[in-house]
Amino acid sequence: MEPRPRGPDRERTGCDVTRVLVIGGGIAGTAAAVALRKAGIDVAVYEAHPDSAEDIGAFLTLASNGMRALAQLGASAAVTAIGFPLTSMRVLDGAGAQVAHVPLGEAADPRLRYRCLRRGELNTALQAEAARRGIDIRHGARLAAVEDGPDGVTAHFADGSTATGDMLVGADGLNSTVREAIAPATRPVHAGQQVFYGYTRAAPLPGPDASITMVRGGPGGFGCAVSPDGETYWFARVSGDPLPMDEITRGTPAGWRDLLVPLLREDAPVAADVVAATTDAIMVTNATELPPGAPWRTARTLLIGDAAHAASPATGQGASMALEDAVVLAKSLRDAPDIETALSCYESLRRPRTEHNTTVSGNISRGTHTPSRPAGGASPPRPGDDDLARLLEWDSDIMAMRPAHQG
Ligand SMILES: Cc1cc2nc3c(=O)[nH]c(=O)nc-3n(C[C@H](O)[C@H](O)[C@H](O)COP(=O)(O)OP(=O)(O)OC[C@H]3O[C@@H](n4cnc5c(N)ncnc54)[C@H](O)[C@@H]3O)c2cc1C
Repeated sequence: MEPRPRGPDRERTGCDVTRVLVIGGGIAGTAAAVALRKAGIDVAVYEAHPDSAEDIGAFLTLASNGMRALAQLGASAAVTAIGFPLTSMRVLDGAGAQVAHVPLGEAADPRLRYRCLRRGELNTALQAEAARRGIDIRHGARLAAVEDGPDGVTAHFADGSTATGDMLVGADGLNSTVREAIAPATRPVHAGQQVFYGYTRAAPLPGPDASITMVRGGPGGFGCAVSPDGETYWFARVSGDPLPMDEITRGTPAGWRDLLVPLLREDAPVAADVVAATTDAIMVTNATELPPGAPWRTARTLLIGDAAHAASPATGQGASMALEDAVVLAKSLRDAPDIETALSCYESLRRPRTEHNTTVSGNISRGTHTPSRPAGGASPPRPGDDDLARLLEWDSDIMAMRPAHQG
């Protein structure tokens, strides 16, 4: 059962933020809008894409921590209606022999199970949930500049229109325009791998139901999961320099397959067979991250999600971290007496955890760290894991959870 909604009805302690502009209608921005609305704050989302049906390309896994954040927003049902659950992880050697089979995350609770879904489907579902709650999502609104004043913030859009609010949230992803204004020196960097994704209904690697299969060997990492209707979702990470953008744009599924299969064939033939069976749906991207330590905020502007802490995909935590951001931000604005206290509370709770993820994920992608997981199973501990349930619990007072030096 979803937690009892405690939204605009919950008493706020008097933070001076009543209207928030959210830039970016991706996972972070849409979830933040839902959370802010639930905290009784007026919010609008400005999304550059002209419609919600953006690329349905790559898939991702939402981990139990991300699903927990969604549950606290009362938004589990919107997401469990799409994709499929994953309750265990199987590890195979390159030839296909099983090395381990372990439970994944909080598998016993249907709301908190890992979920595998296409990123575009997730975005669309979250946007529909936001719209259902009466949140204004403006498509085709590309932010061009931010003007941060003592009493408010103004967003200037590429079409010449403007919007004003008490605060602006930059949820505009890896190449954030908002970050350009706050931290112009911060640039995304290559995290040492190219990442290929594919879908096929002809893969010769069935697994147990609701299981993700990781295959050892090969040039960086390979994993796949079979949906209940028999479609295999797979990814392959390949260590190396970034692929030039024009090569990515010109590439074809057949070309990527011909590149990838020989790389996998010798050490991970079982993975090579899955890729070889994929005919028309293979995509590639470079693994990219933001170096930790860059500023996240000014007086009335805050970066969240990939705009603040993009990580390489190795730990599979980017979307889940964005969902955690949404809940912690809304609770901070709800419970703090003023915006400065709210944003510093938010940052002190989020920075250690998200930057730990960026570092660990980057180290895995660069091959400088072997995941300390039981045979590739459970995630290594992260700062904040112990208190996460209480932190995300909608009704708990976030001010009581600030690090001691802030209290
Ligand atoms: C290959 C790959 C695999 C991944 N796998 C996983 C995984 O398994 N699990 C996981 O949890 N995470 C995964 N991630 C990470 C995850 O996809 C991201 O962390 C997540 O999408 C971040 O969400 P976001 O809302 O911050 O950014 P985005 O999803 O990038 O959304 C940003 C939004 O802002 C909009 N925008 C941009 N500029 C402007 C502007 N100027 N004005 C208005 N709007 C603007 C964009 O159109 C977009 O809609 C993966 C990422 C990659 C690249």
